[in-house]
Amino acid sequence: MARLLVIGGGIAGTAAALALHKAGQEVAVYEAHPDSAEDIGAFLTLASNGLRALAELDAAPAVTAAGFPLTTMRLLDAEGTEVARAPLGEADDPVLRYRCLRRGELGAALRSEAVGRGIGIVHGARLASVEDGPGGVTAHFTDGSTASGDLLLGADGLNSAVRRSIAPAARPRYAGQHVFYGYSSWAPAAGEDGTACITMIRGSAAAFGHTTSPRGETYWFARVTAEAPLTADETAHAAPTRWRDLLVPLLRRDTTPAADVVAATTGPVLVTNATEIPNGTPWRRGRTLLVGDAAHAASPATGQGASMALEDAVILAKCLRDAPDTESALSRYEALRRPRVEHNTTVSGNISRGVHAPAPGGRPAARPGDALARQLEWAAPLS
Ligand SMILES: Cc1cc2nc3c(=O)[nH]c(=O)nc-3n(C[C@H](O)[C@H](O)[C@H](O)COP(=O)(O)OP(=O)(O)OC[C@H]3O[C@@H](n4cnc5c(N)ncnc54)[C@H](O)[C@@H]3O)c2cc1C
Repeated sequence: MARLLVIGGGIAGTAAALALHKAGQEVAVYEAHPDSAEDIGAFLTLASNGLRALAELDAAPAVTAAGFPLTTMRLLDAEGTEVARAPLGEADDPVLRYRCLRRGELGAALRSEAVGRGIGIVHGARLASVEDGPGGVTAHFTDGSTASGDLLLGADGLNSAVRRSIAPAARPRYAGQHVFYGYSSWAPAAGEDGTACITMIRGSAAAFGHTTSPRGETYWFARVTAEAPLTADETAHAAPTRWRDLLVPLLRRDTTPAADVVAATTGPVLVTNATEIPNGTPWRRGRTLLVGDAAHAASPATGQGASMALEDAVILAKCLRDAPDTESALSRYEALRRPRVEHNTTVSGNISRGVHAPAPGGRPAARPGDALARQLEWAAPLS
């Protein structure tokens, strides 16, 4: 049995730990945050492919106990006219249908599942550097502690310290949009599908989305094209009403519910830059491998980052389970994953930048095709 060190206890790291544990590996997670209560407030939508990966890890019930389902997407134009309505992913399947939940809820569900299975999660362990040698790999943490293993997974997100040790020249890249999120007390009518519906609005100044939870709280986001990214100072220290005051007049240009949703926002409006890791960034060196956003963060436009991280977890664990040795397992993993995740990065980046040249293959499918479904199926060996 190999000993695996997972750096980062977010979605990718915790899911990878669940999958590796299921495959019979000894695994421990090292998370920089001192406690597990962090919730930066944003919400996300898990697509059917992500839920299928969770189901293969026997972790779907823990996650579907949080948040609420989404079965339909409707599209409005800038006049507020409904121009399309379609089922989302595997809408008929209560386990695999899309789910909207707060990031903190998803993290807590995954971590509690991991702890319940006896997986160690060390909080307050911030990786400083990685030392790779012929006999093993050692993680050095900022508090001076160390941990050693046979393989180290960098699941430490967009600004990965592990990636800096593998590919020091690789840099996250701005993808052309500022992304705003919030929760509103006003719930616009969404048609006959009520709370199971997410509404997307093709506005003249922003791509906007909203859905209302069963408790009557409207979750919304807006993606606004902007030449330059916001600075760290702007995102961290803006006056509490700054983003709401910026968005409402922009959204008022259209006759859609978007401006009223934002105007009725109860808490702070969150903002971030759409950011991606350039395709071709190395994922592996020696006994170290990147997964999740550390390897392939995409702009949020396709809403697939978390689901891709969950797919990573299952397929990596199956590669390590089925390949004759670690080297061939990691090669197989990269060969299986790179085309799919880089396609997502390209499509999502094109949407964020307003590039109207669709990548070959179109939008990444949230309903897995046969090949992906088989890769995710735990009982099916990886050929
Ligand atoms: C605005 C926005 C909206 C999004 N919406 C969606 C959506 O609707 N659907 C979807 O599927 N995806 C969405 N995504 C993408 C999704 O959030 C990411 O793909 C996902 O969180 C990646 O998970 P991860 O575990 O790789 O990284 P993260 O969630 O960033 O987790 C990384 C973890 O590593 C820890 N860490 C960092 N540095 C260190 C260190 N040095 N040592 C130890 N630990 C460390 C961090 O504390 C964190 O816990 C969105 C992203 C953004 C920015």
